Amino acid sequence: MSGEYTLQSDASLRTLNTFGIQANAGWLLTVSRAEALPAALADPRIRGLPLMCIGDGSNVLLVDDFPGVVLRQTTIGVGVIQDDRTSVCVRADAAVGWDGFVDWSLAHGFAGLENLALIPGRVGAAPIQNIGAYGTEIDEFITTVEAWERSAERLVRLAREECGFTYRDSRFKHEIDRWIVTALELRLPRQRTPHLDYPGVREELGSRVGDPSLSEVAAAIRRIRRRKLPDPAVIGNAGSFFKNPIVSSGVAGSLIASNPDLPNYAAGPPQYRKLSAAWLIEACGWRGHREGDAGVSSRHALVVVNYGSATGAQLLALARRVAGSVRARFGVELVPEPRIVGAQF
Ligand SMILES: Cc1cc2nc3c(=O)[nH]c(=O)nc-3n(C[C@H](O)[C@H](O)[C@H](O)COP(=O)(O)OP(=O)(O)OC[C@H]3O[C@@H](n4cnc5c(N)ncnc54)[C@H](O)[C@@H]3O)c2cc1C
Repeated sequence: MSGEYTLQSDASLRTLNTFGIQANAGWLLTVSRAEALPAALADPRIRGLPLMCIGDGSNVLLVDDFPGVVLRQTTIGVGVIQDDRTSVCVRADAAVGWDGFVDWSLAHGFAGLENLALIPGRVGAAPIQNIGAYGTEIDEFITTVEAWERSAERLVRLAREECGFTYRDSRFKHEIDRWIVTALELRLPRQRTPHLDYPGVREELGSRVGDPSLSEVAAAIRRIRRRKLPDPAVIGNAGSFFKNPIVSSGVAGSLIASNPDLPNYAAGPPQYRKLSAAWLIEACGWRGHREGDAGVSSRHALVVVNYGSATGAQLLALARRVAGSVRARFGVELVPEPRIVGAQF
């Protein structure tokens, strides 16, 4: 045992996932600083075991125990590492809480993160699915992801271009056993025109003369999110359970012809469109559906919820049926957003 890490065997993960599911980790490894990782990972009790990083567990569905090592980091440093007056480069450790980081950046007059207010979780998880909300994705600001490369046993700095960021996706999501993200560096502008075009944002800000401040935008986003999404502290959930499906514009065109209300958006290249997964699920009648303690939120059809003691397997079974009915009715494949631990979707 070193002062820089602790190991607990057969540890409950119930408070470490926002679904509130009971599952155990073979070992819970808590590491203070990135520099302590080599010694911690070489500990003979855990060396070579499968490893999963965890932040706040707000994007995981635990269907089974995790027999290996669940790793938490605890260092929470944040600071400016470069300032050229028009923009700053900031660095935040993986364990820093995301929403607190957003607040810190706005309080210092740095722009960019206001539309990402109130996303649960830690900084280290932000690049994993390239978090996004209200028309902003974090890869717009990331310059460097600092990570421990497990196979090579070294700390590396990955430039944004090396991270494979796309919609709710990144290289890290596909190389899940390879990287332990230890810190992020982001370039944030001091001035930015607020991005208010996402549906509902302007309405929330009300009529006014001139642009709102970035803190006002963040406050409006927080109000909208509190209204629309169930609070995981009250009802277990992991936010959107499915990504919005991206289909060819031909497929989108015929779906829209028969369902003129189906919301659809640009998806990068013009030959693709992004469809609203929430609309597809709601059209299949799932919103507010409940089976025991597993359900689909009555506030938002994209959110699978645990009303109390649902198991991961029950939630997964429900999510599979939701996806199955969307496939049967619309021919569209829904892909889950959270990491599913102990099962395949
Ligand atoms: C109510 C609610 C609303 C949400 N809204 C949004 C939203 O608007 N937009 C959005 O993008 N997401 C949203 N999410 C999902 C979630 O908040 C984000 O994905 C968040 O980044 C997860 O952070 P976390 O620390 O909880 O990660 P965890 O759930 O602990 O982990 C998520 C994944 O990242 C991996 N991981 C975590 N930390 C590290 C690390 N240091 N190194 C390597 N891998 C790591 C884990 O192994 C896992 O695969 C929402 C969730 C909830 C509950």
